[in-house]
Amino acid sequence: MQMSAISTVSTWRDQARCRGVDPQVFHPSEEDDDAADAAKAICALCPVADSCLEFAVSTRENDGVWGGLTARERRRLIRQRRQSA
Ligand code: SF4
Repeated sequence: MQMSAISTVSTWRDQARCRGVDPQVFHPSEEDDDAADAAKAICALCPVADSCLEFAVSTRENDGVWGGLTARERRRLIRQRRQSA
């Protein structure tokens, strides 16, 4: 049996609950926590939320909801981690 040249390695993105959802849901027009509620509801049931959040934190993603947190909430998390390090 010949191996396929196509990679079968999956990443956390392959399991993202937001796949196929309108990206605008995850990029509310303003940094408004209420506007982000729809995205957060999806993230709350996502099996890869931890990986998603750590990716966004490590890359300093400055827009949108990742791992259930808005950009403002991620900045707060980064500050808290720095203070407790
Ligand atoms: S945590 Fe939210 S933004 Fe991240 S992959 Fe899951 S559903 Fe998508």
